[in-house]
Amino acid sequence: MTSTRTAIVVGGGIAGPVAALALRRAGIEATVHESHTGTADGVGGALSVAPNGRAALDFVGLDRVGAPMNAIVLQNHRGRTIAEFRQPMQFTWRADLYRRLYDLALSEGVDVRHGHEVVGVQETATGIRAVFADGTTSEEADVLVGADGLNSTVRRLIDPEAPKPRYSGLLGFGARVDGAGLPPTGDRMYMAFGRRAFFGYQSFDDGTGVWFANLPHPYLTWRQVRQTPNEQWLRRLAEVFDGDAVPALELLRRTPPEDLVTAGPMEDLPHVPHWHRGRMVLVGDSAHATSPSSGQGASLAAESAVELARALRDLPYDQAFVAYERARRARVERVIAEGARTNSKKAAGPVGRLVRDAVLPLVARLATPEKMAWQYDHRIAWDAPVTA
Ligand SMILES: Cc1cc2nc3c(=O)[nH]c(=O)nc-3n(C[C@H](O)[C@H](O)[C@H](O)COP(=O)(O)OP(=O)(O)OC[C@H]3O[C@@H](n4cnc5c(N)ncnc54)[C@H](O)[C@@H]3O)c2cc1C
Repeated sequence: MTSTRTAIVVGGGIAGPVAALALRRAGIEATVHESHTGTADGVGGALSVAPNGRAALDFVGLDRVGAPMNAIVLQNHRGRTIAEFRQPMQFTWRADLYRRLYDLALSEGVDVRHGHEVVGVQETATGIRAVFADGTTSEEADVLVGADGLNSTVRRLIDPEAPKPRYSGLLGFGARVDGAGLPPTGDRMYMAFGRRAFFGYQSFDDGTGVWFANLPHPYLTWRQVRQTPNEQWLRRLAEVFDGDAVPALELLRRTPPEDLVTAGPMEDLPHVPHWHRGRMVLVGDSAHATSPSSGQGASLAAESAVELARALRDLPYDQAFVAYERARRARVERVIAEGARTNSKKAAGPVGRLVRDAVLPLVARLATPEKMAWQYDHRIAWDAPVTA
């Protein structure tokens, strides 16, 4: 049985609510502190939920979210299919997944407090408190879980030398389109390596569609991206896809500028040396951000949140943190490395394109369900006891 009774969760994004819900199932009362003063409705672009992430979300009681995406068809700039990957994924908007988790957490009695930006901690002999930007502090708890994302404050509190996010060289954009003007792609997402940028799209029976683009670009923060008017980004995207045999121009033309989603720089964190110190521990992007190209960011965050709760259920917090990291590190770093390899293909030059187009069909043939099982079939063995 755990000696941990209470937890402070820093961050009310994806990992935070999942952690709070999973901790409750482990008998630990968690309060979520989120820096934003309001909810994150309508913010963020598209993301996918993989079967492994689906299972972790199922565990905390969140049923299906988004549209089925059972195959990814990869094409080159001439519109030729070079590979097809079949996996039962779900395609959703970050805002929708966030809202569903937020509502679920509230309905289960999780205390979510907004406008609580954590800037420090006070550690005592018996527990830990979060210190907020306005100088106030939280109640004392047994542990503090840093679910505060890519630019985590808790990561820096654990290790002031902790690495900063690594930029992939790509900016992310996307939109939902009411009248896509395309034949339905069913449960298939088409992704195309254009000559200058990467484009993905899916169109549905009701005439709506979604698209996303990854644009090679010097580094800009999300705020800097937003300083350029959406009209200008849409024009830039139309320029880079001009001449490619993908329906990018059609979908861009049908995207009202106000509907353009600017997801910002695509970044990852290949290796965070310290995931915990004292009563603090990291979960989700704060510990293991993978670039959106892996399609696993939200899924790994959900998995880690459940695995952490399982360890805290069975072991004193210091041993639990070690067991949790042992269960997670190799897996998440492998996924992050795969995501980074995908990014390099998206920004390939002319020679890289030839190699990529030759190699990808082989990669797809080798990516059998058995070969990919390590990634997609992973399940948290909640009922099995965790040992030190
Ligand atoms: C606004 C937003 C939009 C996103 N859009 C996309 C997208 O389009 N595509 C994609 O693949 N991924 C996107 N992501 C990232 C995606 O949500 C994560 O990769 C993944 O789901 C892991 O989630 P997480 O909870 O670990 O981190 P996040 O989802 O980043 O959540 C972290 C939360 O912590 C809060 N926070 C940060 N610092 C503090 C602090 N000091 N004190 C208190 N709270 C703090 C943040 O406000 C945020 O709510 C987005 C994240 C955010 C925050």
